[in-house]
Amino acid sequence: MSEFDLVIKNGIIVNEEKLSKADVLIKDGKIVDIGLHIKETKAKQIIDAEGLYLFPGIIDSHVHFNEPGRSEWEGLETGSKSLAAGGATLFFDMPLNSHPPTTSEQAFHLKNGLAKEKSVIDYRLWGGVVPGNLDELEKLLQCGVIGFKAFMSNSGIDDFQSADDRTLLQAMKKIAELHSILAVHAESDTITEFLGKEINRESDHIALAFSNARPIFSEIEAVQRIIAYAEATKCRLHIVHISSADVLEPILAAKRRGLDISVETCPHYLSLTMDDLEKLGAAAKCAPPLRSKQEVDNLWEAIRKGEIDVIGSDHSPSLPSMKMGNLLEAWGGISGCQTTLSVLLEEGYWQRGIPLEMISKITSTNPARRFGLYPNKGSILKGYDADIAIVDVNEKFILKKEDLYYKNKISPYIGKTYRGRVKATISRGELIYSHFSDSNKMTT
Ligand SMILES: [Zn+2]
Repeated sequence: MSEFDLVIKNGIIVNEEKLSKADVLIKDGKIVDIGLHIKETKAKQIIDAEGLYLFPGIIDSHVHFNEPGRSEWEGLETGSKSLAAGGATLFFDMPLNSHPPTTSEQAFHLKNGLAKEKSVIDYRLWGGVVPGNLDELEKLLQCGVIGFKAFMSNSGIDDFQSADDRTLLQAMKKIAELHSILAVHAESDTITEFLGKEINRESDHIALAFSNARPIFSEIEAVQRIIAYAEATKCRLHIVHISSADVLEPILAAKRRGLDISVETCPHYLSLTMDDLEKLGAAAKCAPPLRSKQEVDNLWEAIRKGEIDVIGSDHSPSLPSMKMGNLLEAWGGISGCQTTLSVLLEEGYWQRGIPLEMISKITSTNPARRFGLYPNKGSILKGYDADIAIVDVNEKFILKKEDLYYKNKISPYIGKTYRGRVKATISRGELIYSHFSDSNKMTT
């Protein structure tokens, strides 16, 4: 009879292939056994998860926590606590909009030291590709970056310049040699700049005008170009935040040709539309912009078919003052890292019958696989890190501002009703978030 640190009894485990009811036994941060009615267990802490689902902890491969340099926008502590409350146990922080951006070894060490001190969950950092930092890429990889990120259009921030075509090609050649991966924000700089100047600033439908100035074909043009560069350099690619299933076509064709490429979309493209942007204003402003209801539905159909690899929140907060005034001038970025699972359960599982196993796969297993952390992360299996979100998929709630752990509690999801709530989050065996109202659920 051995003593465990934590036992989660009677929950239904949601792995990518199947649902199974079992007890999960945890010791020293690891899942040491999984089975039904394991007898004679002694544990320091027991959670009765009868009627609840156990998802592998969400891996959010796309957040902007802005620390150091702009930590008044978010911060590593508030950001990671928000994620924990949403069932996430690992995040990858983007190289911008922290200052300095993570484009050099020195900047990496600065952010990494802060993350080590402040994050309540596991993390990795993305390195940045900007004009002139080619010599830093190898050093950044040696430091431990999860991959590299480049912008093909204006990033909206002066200290992270978009990568011109020559920079992209040179960096991709280097990244291929290093066996790493490039994530790209794929919108055409030329098209978005050109159409941006054409916007009728007096329009009564400024949200529509904004969306039309960053059209789907601008994403497609950039994706086609970066795929051609991947053909030329053999660089592995990850296309972030596509806003439309139309953008998938060149990506799927490239996959069929054998290119090593993956694709992400975000909860906001799976739940919000231009009408929300019109109604909510800058809280729902992002780039690429929100599209139509049809585009939302099309993206869900792509998920059903297994064509989307990864869901990242692209949590990109700012100061409230930057979200005021004219929509065209306001900061583009949506705060949503705490609500990923609730949005996917409501919009996917409840409204469209997307299987829970698929939600588990695109939020955890696939990112773990894509970024080299599988096995060990991304599933609830014996020997893996004990990273688990305990979820009541039936619990209905209205998201309130005060529920959010964000530093600046602005989010387009406030006031919306969701079915599916994270009840507890376990990171490497430790209970780091709990929303159980029933004290019987937990015994120590
Ligand atoms: Zn982003």
